[in-house]
This record gives sequence, C-alpha cells and structure tokens, in this order.
Amino acid sequence: MTHLCSVLGLYIHIPFCRQACHYCNFHFSTQLKHSEAMVSAIAQEIDQARNIHPTLFPCDASLPKINTLYFGGGSPSVLTPQELQRIFDAIRRNFDLTVLSETTLEANPEDLSPENLMVWKSMGINRLSMGIQSLNDEELRWMNRAHSSEQSRMAVAKAAAHGFHDVSIDLIYGSEKKTLLQWREELAWAAQCGASHLSCYALTIEEKTTFGHQAKKGQLSAPPDEHAEAQFLYLSEWAHAQGWEHYEISNLCLPGHRAKHNSNYWQGHPYIGIGPSAHSFDGKTRRWNIAQNHTYIEKITHNDTAFEAEILSAADQTNELLMTGLRLIEGVPLQALEWLWPGYTEQKAPQVKSLVQKGWLMAESDRLIIPLPARFLCDAITVELMVD
Ligand code: SF4
Repeated sequence: MTHLCSVLGLYIHIPFCRQACHYCNFHFSTQLKHSEAMVSAIAQEIDQARNIHPTLFPCDASLPKINTLYFGGGSPSVLTPQELQRIFDAIRRNFDLTVLSETTLEANPEDLSPENLMVWKSMGINRLSMGIQSLNDEELRWMNRAHSSEQSRMAVAKAAAHGFHDVSIDLIYGSEKKTLLQWREELAWAAQCGASHLSCYALTIEEKTTFGHQAKKGQLSAPPDEHAEAQFLYLSEWAHAQGWEHYEISNLCLPGHRAKHNSNYWQGHPYIGIGPSAHSFDGKTRRWNIAQNHTYIEKITHNDTAFEAEILSAADQTNELLMTGLRLIEGVPLQALEWLWPGYTEQKAPQVKSLVQKGWLMAESDRLIIPLPARFLCDAITVELMVD
C-alpha cells in the first residue's frame, strides 16, 4: 500500500445552524436537538479514520501529523463547549498535533459570548472565521441571517479583546440590496476592524435554496453580472490600495495571514474530512461522506461505510489543478501540468494564445496566471484550458 504523505489537514464538518440563510446550499440542519448524537458519530468517525484512510496513516502504529485543523459547517459555533471538547479529545487520540499551526473555527456573530471565546481560546483555537456577510440590516434580514450588523461589529471587537489575532471575515457582494457605496463602506470597515483576512463571495442563486425557489416562481431575479463584476473590481483595487494581498479569487489578507488550511486545498495537498458531506483527498482518491445527518449517524454507529469514492484519472487531476491553481495569484506551474498531462503545453497552445490575446491570461515561461481584471471570468477561462 502506498503511503502518500506525512502531514495532513483535518476538516470537521458540523452540520447545524440556528436558522437557514436564504442563499445557502451547504449541508446543514436546523435540528440542533440531534447535536449530541452527531458529536458521538463524529468522534467515532475520527476513531475509525485509520481504517477509512489507510493510505494517509503511517505503516507503524504512530499517529499522522496534522498541520491545520478546521471546524466548518454549518455553524460549529453552535456546539456547546462540552460537545466541542469531545471532538477535540477524539482528535488527540488519533492524530499527532505537535506541528499543528492553525486551528480555525467558523463562528457566527451571535455565538461570540465571552464564555465561548474563553473556552475556544483554551482549547487551542487560534483563528476565527466569522460569517458577517453584510453590515446592512435590511440585507441581513433579506438573507435570513440570525444576527444584526451591530452584533457583527461587537463580535469582531470581542474576539480581539479575547486575544484572537487571526480573524477572518466573510462578506457577500453583488446582491440586489448592496450598492457600490455600501460595498465600499463595508470594505472600509473591514480594513480597520482588526481582521487580518477576508473571504468575499459573489451572491449566487442556487437551486435548492429559498432564493432558488423564489427565483423559480419569478419573485426574485438575479442582478446583472456587471453589478457583481463592478464590486469585484472595486474589491481588487481596494486591496491593492490598502496593502492587502488578493491571493485567491475570493480571499484577501494582510501580508503573512493567508489561510493555511484552505491554501493546502488549493495546492492539492492531502486532507481528511470528517462529518456528513465532508470530503477527503489522498493525492489520488477523493472520498465524500453521505450528506444526510440521520443516515450518516446510523452508518457510522454501525461501522458501515458512510462515504463514496472515486479514483481521479490523469484528466481529472489536471483539471482539478487548473480549477484551484488558476484562482491563485501565483497561477498554475506548467511543470505540474506537464507532469500530470504530458504534452499539455503543446496541446493547449492555441487556447493559451487566444486567451493571452484577449488579455485574459498571462503565459509566463513557467506558469499560467489569470491577470486581476480577468479573474472575474475565472470559471470560463478554466474551462478553455481543461483536458479530456
Ligand atoms: S449560517 Fe452559514 S452554513 Fe448556516 S445556513 Fe447560514 S450561510 Fe449556511
């Protein structure tokens, strides 16, 4: 059996939220009463990880080292300190944390009580990723967020007061409720609130969401692409002017504050995902857990297989590298493309030439990079460069 790596990222998916945001298509439930059973199942899946992911565990009895740990969801901040502690205990039983340098918890502003902040800090959480989304109360209500803009402002200040120096903020742009002026004001606040990282996503209307249903009935129409594009371009200019690094299409940071866990994904490093809907990757095989809470708990409790898997073909691996790498400021190294797909440079020369002529691609001697003004078209550009 091939053992593929010695250091891993570990992702824990907590599939509960206080209420359903109207745009969200992540896997979550608002049935918080099942959180205890879910935490038991998650702890059990962590205890089974050596059997589920044999290629990612050392041949001897030693534990694999993890360098990043990420609690995402859903809303991990809805867990009680005791529930979170049970998951941490299972992680400590099964993984070596001596090189762990980043432990992130996704947290919603309404959950940042002084007690929670103290407990999270004592558990070793050193990075908070906060779902702020907007500072406009009308827009927050429209999206069905469970907090006000005032709670958001206070939450970021509280996090800093409790010694969290790595705070990331999620913001949504491009909605019909957000004018360019409001977007500018939100970014101006972000620059001075103490956060060191920003994740900014264009609002998309997904089918199985409240907004998706409203759109189907003709009650909601997506604003024109130019609306989001103008806000994206402003974001890039703002970052440049403020000295923030726009290092991934949706992610910006102060120098030295890139998200390590997500950067590992984007660079194609292996990781283990625990919890319903979580994905894992060992360099060749992708696994994804059942995205249904009750079935996930049943399967894990009975030691049944709770995931599906696929071995990535050379074309899949090449296309994944393009999908993640072209989103990064560094772009995709040609050497890696050639290694996965021998002859890539020659085969795609006509597409590369055409994209370069349009100003949508920079073909440097060793890498392909999407220039900033064209990054909004990243998906369409990536499709042109894929192989099959
Ligand atoms: S809190 Fe986050 S995960 Fe939960 S519904 Fe809202 S956006 Fe989705």
